[in-house]
Amino acid sequence: MAKAPSKGTVSRRGFLRGALQGSAGAAAAACATVVATPDANALQRAPKAMSPDALGLLYDSTLCIGCKACVTACKDVNHMPPEVGPEAQAWNGAPGNPTWDTPVELSAKTLNIIKAYSHGTGETKDSPENGFAFIKRQCLHCADPSCVSVCPVTAMTKDEKTGIVSHNPDACIGCRYCVLSCPFGVPKYDYNDAFGEIKKCQLCQHRLAENQLPGCADVCPTGATLFGRTEDLKAEAKRRTALKVGEVTHYPRGDIGGTVGGARAGHEKTVAAAYQSHIYGETELGGTQCLAVSGVPFDKLNLPTNVPDTGYPTLSEGIQHTLYAGMVGPAVAFAGLAYLARRNAKDHPEE
Ligand code: SF4
Ligand code: SF4
Ligand code: SF4
Repeated sequence: MAKAPSKGTVSRRGFLRGALQGSAGAAAAACATVVATPDANALQRAPKAMSPDALGLLYDSTLCIGCKACVTACKDVNHMPPEVGPEAQAWNGAPGNPTWDTPVELSAKTLNIIKAYSHGTGETKDSPENGFAFIKRQCLHCADPSCVSVCPVTAMTKDEKTGIVSHNPDACIGCRYCVLSCPFGVPKYDYNDAFGEIKKCQLCQHRLAENQLPGCADVCPTGATLFGRTEDLKAEAKRRTALKVGEVTHYPRGDIGGTVGGARAGHEKTVAAAYQSHIYGETELGGTQCLAVSGVPFDKLNLPTNVPDTGYPTLSEGIQHTLYAGMVGPAVAFAGLAYLARRNAKDHPEE
C-alpha cells in the first residue's frame, strides 16, 4: 500500500500535478508560438555574417602528398603529447622521446590529422574510381559555430575580427556540450585524464601574434595547406576549381597574402586531376573560414555533405529567443510556481 504523505508535506504526485497546473500557462504561452509556427524557418534568427578580416586555411587535396609534416608541426608548435604510449616508445626512439607518432584520429592530443581515401586498386591519385586522396581535418572555424552557441559559460568564443574560434580552459566547466554539438566532430576531451581539457585547433593564434604562420601552413612543402584571409582563400579556391586538366598554374605556399611569415616561393604545376566544382566550407552550415578543394567528392573524404546552408544555431537560438521573448515564458512559469507555493502554504497554515 502506498504510504500517505504526512501532514505538512507535499506528495510527489501532488507536487507534479500542481507544478504542471502552475506551469501550464507558461508552457502553453511559450510553446504555442513555436508549435503554431508552420514553417520552422520562420523561427530562425538571421545567420551570422563572416568578418571581412576572417582568417583561415585553404586545403587543396590534389596538392597533398600525405607526408603528414603538418601533423608533426601542429604537435610541435602546440606542445601536444604523442599518441603512442610509453610501451611503444622503446622501439620508437629513446624512452620518453619517441621519434615517430602515429595519430589516426583527432583527439585531445592531436589537433590536426591527415586521413586517406582509397578505392579499388587505389592506383590513381585524386580519382574516385580505383584511386586515392587525402583530407586534412582540423577545426574549420565556422562563421556561426555550434560549439560557441552551446557553451553555457562562454569558454568557447569567436573573435569578432579574425573569426578564430578559441577555447578558454580557465572558464570551461567540462560539460562537453561543444564536443557533442560540433557537426564536424572537432573538439575532443581526454577521458583518460582526471584533469582533462577540451582541445581543438585555434589557428595557432599564439604564432600569428608573433607574425609566424600556423605550424601546418608553415611546413607544408606543396602549399596544400595555405593560410590567409578567408576571402582571399575563397577567391583562390574559385580559381582552382575552374582550372582544366593539363593546364599549368602557379600554386603559392605559406600565406596567400604574403605578409605573415615572410614571402616564400610557390611552384608551377600541371593540373593532373579535375577539381570538384564545389568548395567545401563555402556554404556548409553557414560557411567556414577553413575551406577545402578536392578531386574526389567530399562525402568520400568523410566530410558531412548533407547539411543545411545555415548553421544549426540559427534555428536553436531562434527557438530559444522565441521562448524567452520579453521574458514572458519564464515570468509565467515563475508565477505558476509562486501560486503553487502559496497554495501549499494555505493548505498547511500551522507551519
Ligand atoms: S568546426 Fe566545430 S569546433 Fe570548429 S568552430 Fe565549427 S563547431 Fe566549433
Ligand atoms: S592552425 Fe595550428 S593548431 Fe590548427 S591545424 Fe594548423 S598547426 Fe594545428
Ligand atoms: S604537410 Fe602538406 S602535403 Fe604534407 S600531409 Fe600536410 S597538407 Fe599534405
